[in-house]
Amino acid sequence: MNYEINQLVQYAINEGLLDIDDAEYAVNQIIHLLNIETFQKESINEDFDFFDVLSKILEYAYENQLIPSRRISDFDNFEAKLMDAFLPRPADLNRHFKQLYKDAPIYATNYFYHLSQKSNYIKTKRMEKNIHFQYEGQYAPLDISINLSKPEKDPLQIAMKHQSDEFDYPKCPLCMENVGFYGNDDHASRSNHRVVSITINHEKDAWGFQYSPYSYFNEHAIILKKEHIPMQVNSTTFDELIDFINRFPHYFIGSNAGLPIVGGSILNHYHFQGGRASFPIEKARVLSHYKKAKVEIEILDWPLSVIRVVGNNEYKVLDMVNQITNYWKDYTNPDLSIYAYTEVPHNTVTPIVKLHESKYHFYIVLRNNLTTKDRPYGLFHPRESYFHIKKENIGLIEVMGLAILPGRLESELDEIKNILLNNENLENYPHLNYHRDWILSMQRMEFDKDSIDEFLHEQVGSIFEKVLEDCGVFKKSDRKAFIQFVEKAIL
Ligand SMILES: [Zn+2]
Repeated sequence: MNYEINQLVQYAINEGLLDIDDAEYAVNQIIHLLNIETFQKESINEDFDFFDVLSKILEYAYENQLIPSRRISDFDNFEAKLMDAFLPRPADLNRHFKQLYKDAPIYATNYFYHLSQKSNYIKTKRMEKNIHFQYEGQYAPLDISINLSKPEKDPLQIAMKHQSDEFDYPKCPLCMENVGFYGNDDHASRSNHRVVSITINHEKDAWGFQYSPYSYFNEHAIILKKEHIPMQVNSTTFDELIDFINRFPHYFIGSNAGLPIVGGSILNHYHFQGGRASFPIEKARVLSHYKKAKVEIEILDWPLSVIRVVGNNEYKVLDMVNQITNYWKDYTNPDLSIYAYTEVPHNTVTPIVKLHESKYHFYIVLRNNLTTKDRPYGLFHPRESYFHIKKENIGLIEVMGLAILPGRLESELDEIKNILLNNENLENYPHLNYHRDWILSMQRMEFDKDSIDEFLHEQVGSIFEKVLEDCGVFKKSDRKAFIQFVEKAIL
């Protein structure tokens, strides 16, 4: 192992994770973890692959009973602890981030993102296996991804978790107390996890800035309130989003709605998601366009009901966003089954902000979480017949046209491909039962056997588009009502 440890140290120095003055200290952490008594500095051949070295070391740890089982989570916990030896302590990282930020915000985020990747906190190698393709669609080319690293969540479980808020440590996956946490059956490995303190909306260092370990898009960041308080979307949220954009103008930011069904997967901890990426929604056509109170208001041609407020004065933009959102919160239209309240409020929004040519582009996505007897999962939620592709809540990432589909689809699509190509009997695939109607309908369609992958991707993409349409409160056939809504809202 001596040689591999030398390689690992060299890697950490080369990637700027480890200051050379910390090298001996780090080595001693590592050999203790590996239950090795001595260490010798060796000259090494620089031409090596970090992941090969890492897997050799982990294999050694497993063989010597330092990793209790072959489970991925046990390997991940040990690996994160190993890599932590090379990382700065949270306070040192904070100081360095702030120092770089003074020169330019982009220097600070570049440094932190690089560190999060190279420490393998963001599992870049695992993510390479994710599947990506585009679906042309009616609105704009949608980005579809099948994510192999993220577990699929059930919306009902999320709603239950929202109510229970059990006694747990760390309290939730977003709490600050995850920083440096070793990991167990309920909580992921966070030894190599770091969160930077940032100030938003005059609350000094009250917010944490971290990267997502799943990284759905470039520099996928999570901006969280340090205090464990539930999600909310109100005028303060909008101020906070805009203020973040002022501080990190090279990022977009958005918030999931604060209500179950139409929100994201973590409702009990107030947080936003951001990053340095572009999304299909930015290419949406403009259906109607208004100018009012020094801002532009656009209705977008999108499967969900989206209004974009554009302007270069943040206060004017915020005024209009608040005006539209407040009008929406009380909006009821029985003809379209939109009810603002039953016993509880149902109308909310998914807000997203990005700077474009030094103008704020503030997207307001109208959401409603009413459930009915026929649609117990939500009237404006993917219908159950699409759950075989996507049953999770449609949060801000998907709203923008990027599908994050469950990893199980990778092997399922391979099997479905065989069924279609060889006209196999579905009875032999009982585990694919929830795809049954879909497979039968595809068997009746004409497709070119040589481009079966493209055909299947297109079918998946078209379901994702319909999933998004299900979440739209004003359907395509209700455009008139949508336009009337906006015209009244901006009066
Ligand atoms: Zn929390």
